[in-house]
Amino acid sequence: MAPALRQYISFMESQKKRERTFSFEFFPPRTEEGKAALHHTAAQLGQLGPRFMSVTFGAGGSTREGTFETVREIKNHGFEAAPHISCIGSTRDQLRQILRGYMALGVRHLVALRGDLPSGTVAAGELRYANELVEFIRAETGTHFYVEVAAYPETHPQAASAEADRLNFRRKVLAGADSAITQYFYNTDAYFRFVDDCESLGMDIAIVPGIMPITNFKQLARFSDACGAEIPRWIRRRLEGYGDDIEAIRAFGLDVTTELCDRLLAAGAPGLHFYTLNRAGPTSTIWERLAL
Ligand code: FAD
Repeated sequence: MAPALRQYISFMESQKKRERTFSFEFFPPRTEEGKAALHHTAAQLGQLGPRFMSVTFGAGGSTREGTFETVREIKNHGFEAAPHISCIGSTRDQLRQILRGYMALGVRHLVALRGDLPSGTVAAGELRYANELVEFIRAETGTHFYVEVAAYPETHPQAASAEADRLNFRRKVLAGADSAITQYFYNTDAYFRFVDDCESLGMDIAIVPGIMPITNFKQLARFSDACGAEIPRWIRRRLEGYGDDIEAIRAFGLDVTTELCDRLLAAGAPGLHFYTLNRAGPTSTIWERLAL
C-alpha cells in the first residue's frame, strides 16, 4: 500500500471515536463601525450552531479590553465564548488578573498561546512558552477552563526542527491542554501526518484543523509569510493569475477551501475552526456547500 494511503487510513481509524467540533474565530474590533459589523456577523454565524466562538488577543495585552468586551458581547448573544490569552510580554500577575476577570464573567473555555512580541518590544514577560502558560492556568484555576492550544502541521516558523516542534507541542498536552486548533494549511497530507505523529508520541487529544477561507490573495500571502503557512504553488499561481479580479479570486478560493474542508471531514477530522476575519459571508458559503 502507498505510504500516503496508509497514512490516510490510519488517520481515519484514529479519528472515528471523536465528536466533531465547529467553531469561529473573531478579532476584537477597534471602531464603532467594526463593533456593529461584528454584532451582525456573530448573530449570523451563531445560527449555524457552533460549539464556541473565540476572540483573539494582542500579545502583551494590547487588545486586553477589546478582547474582554468582545467576549462579553458574544456571551450576551447566548454563545459560548473562548478568549485567546497569550503570555508573551505579560507578568504572572497580569495573567492572573485576566483569568480572574474571565472567571467572574462565567467563561469556561480558553485558547492559550505564547503569542508574538510586536517588533521593538523588549520585555518578553515571565512565561516564555505556551506550555508554561497552560501550567500556570492549571495551577491557578484547576479544571475550571477547557484549554485549547495551537498546533502547526507545517511546523512553527521558529522551531528548531519539525520533531522539536512536535515535542514542544506535547509539552502543552502534558501541561493539561484539552484539545488543539491548527494554524491554517492547504495541504491535507501535512495535517494527517502531523496528527498521526502526535498519536505515535502518545497524545490523545482532538487536533481541529484551522481553516482560512481564501478571498483576498494579497492579504493571504502577507499572513502566510508571517506565520509560515504554505500556499501551495498551484494555488498561488492561479490566484496570481486572476490579478485584481476579486470575483474570480473569491470563486476559486471558496472552491479550494470547500474541497479542503470536505476532504478533512471525510477523513474524520474532529471538526473545523474558521478564521472568519469578522466576516460571515465566506464561512457561511463554505458551510452551506458542505451541507453541515
Ligand atoms: P509555543 O507553543 O510556545 O511555541 C512557540 C515556538 O517555541 C515554537 O517554535 C515551539 O517549537 C517552540 N517551543 C515551545 N515550547 C518550547 C519550550 N518549552 N522550549 C523551547 N522551545 C519551545 N497570536 C496572538 O498574538 N494572538 C492570538 O489570539 C493568536 N491566536 C492564535 C490561534 C491559533 C489557533 C493559532 C494556531 C495561532 C494563534 N496566534 C495568536 C499565533 C501564535 O501566538 C504564534 O504562532 C506564536 O508564534 C506561537 O504561539 P504558540 O502558542 O504556538 O507558542
